[in-house]
Amino acid sequence: MTAKPSPQAAPFSQLPLPAATLANLEQLGYVNMTPIQAASLPVALAGRDLIAQAKTGSGKTAAFALALLSRLDARKFDVQAVVLCPTRELADQVAQEIRRLARAEENVKVLTLCGGTPMRPQTVSLEHGAHIVVGTPGRIMDHLERGSLALGSLNTLVLDEADRMLDMGFFDDIATVARQCPEERQTLLFSATYPDGIAKLSQQFLRKPQEIKLEEQHDDSKIRQRFYEVDENERLHAVGLLLNHYRPVSTLAFCNTKQQCRDLLDVLRAQGFHALALHGELEQRERDQVLIQFANRSCSVLVATDVAARGLDIAQLEAVINVDVTPDPEVHVHRIGRTGRADQDGWALSLASMDEMGRVGAIEQALGREVEWQPLAELKAEDNAPLVPPMATLQILGGRKEKIRPGDVLGALTGEAGFSGSQVGKINVTEFSTYVAVERGVVRDALRKLSAGKVKGKKVKVRLMDE
Ligand code: ADP
Ligand code: MG
Repeated sequence: MTAKPSPQAAPFSQLPLPAATLANLEQLGYVNMTPIQAASLPVALAGRDLIAQAKTGSGKTAAFALALLSRLDARKFDVQAVVLCPTRELADQVAQEIRRLARAEENVKVLTLCGGTPMRPQTVSLEHGAHIVVGTPGRIMDHLERGSLALGSLNTLVLDEADRMLDMGFFDDIATVARQCPEERQTLLFSATYPDGIAKLSQQFLRKPQEIKLEEQHDDSKIRQRFYEVDENERLHAVGLLLNHYRPVSTLAFCNTKQQCRDLLDVLRAQGFHALALHGELEQRERDQVLIQFANRSCSVLVATDVAARGLDIAQLEAVINVDVTPDPEVHVHRIGRTGRADQDGWALSLASMDEMGRVGAIEQALGREVEWQPLAELKAEDNAPLVPPMATLQILGGRKEKIRPGDVLGALTGEAGFSGSQVGKINVTEFSTYVAVERGVVRDALRKLSAGKVKGKKVKVRLMDE
């Protein structure tokens, strides 16, 4: 079920909230609910499970915080709510917002439990009693395993930024925490996007959730489509012109044949782009490595045929380039539907030679409108700096077999190594290897510190993946 929020202003006072809470909200300057709050708070306050999807900055924290606070009994010194977050920074932000919203009531204790800091002080704080725990899945699991955290009195479990937690490989840790919560509870899941893993989480841990989406997944209006006429001999070169002009962080470039993929990869690399290709001859491990580096933003361009790109789900894709026009208009629509998802805009750029005009006509028919043409000559590089991906990938030798968890890697980088959570991107743990994206500017430093330090108490071999 999908609920659409009404566009009118909705004051908090229309909710069944205590007067003190309403007064506190007013003091905070919260008068009207944001759309996600207006759509989700009535459901959450009624005790139902919820999957809410809305973009960053839309006020999701208050949407779950007010719900969990409404059920909290501050006289009972037990953990009554747990909020799982992907990183320490996000957990700190959420804890802060909950504290502000909890000011209406006396003595609500909110504790953050994140990796990268010693366990002992956290254990002591837990002994003193906390009503609400906000933290990362790995560390909360550690406390559960050691018996320093008990969830027998929990009534609300929140998964915040669930998509990012899945990105970071926290599925199993989330599952472990959820299984230790009482069955009689409310579970609230918040996410900016809706990848496959969310449905899996929801099926396993939510009960008849109400789904609230504030944005259509495939909103055509977000895809800006442009066609460029090219001569056959300038086609591959034109891809570089498009990249330098539009400067997308992640681009999927479609070719009609494997040979075209190989040729384009050579041309792009010769021009200094960070590009990788996906083709049928790759072994599973190589394919995984290509997809991981592209999805974690360490590679600017992924070159692929339609067959090789089948089933690929990449959340953030700023541009799709149709290097060749496909003979099948449905394939064209499918290709360009991969960009412009969730709250982002996307470019769909197509190169077409005179020979391909018939195919363009078929696409226009399928779309029910004419396409927009731009002259290639108008493409200018916005600046002369080469297009560089924001992240780079470190490969750690050791994965699930060694029981490495994403939290261990995040902990090693944000703990002694001293990086902030925002400098660390996606973490993928595969059977024998762990891949972590790190801001490109600090990746060599991270490589050095990870190699010199320890992950999960052990020395590890680390290498920088350079495509
Ligand atoms: P999200 O989790 O969706 O990214 P946040 O919960 O962090 O968004 O909220 C974004 C900002 O909006 C915060 O600074 C928060 O204090 C503010 N905010 C949230 N709800 C309201 C509201 N109803 N009125 C005014 N400001 C709000
Ligand atoms: Mg948030």
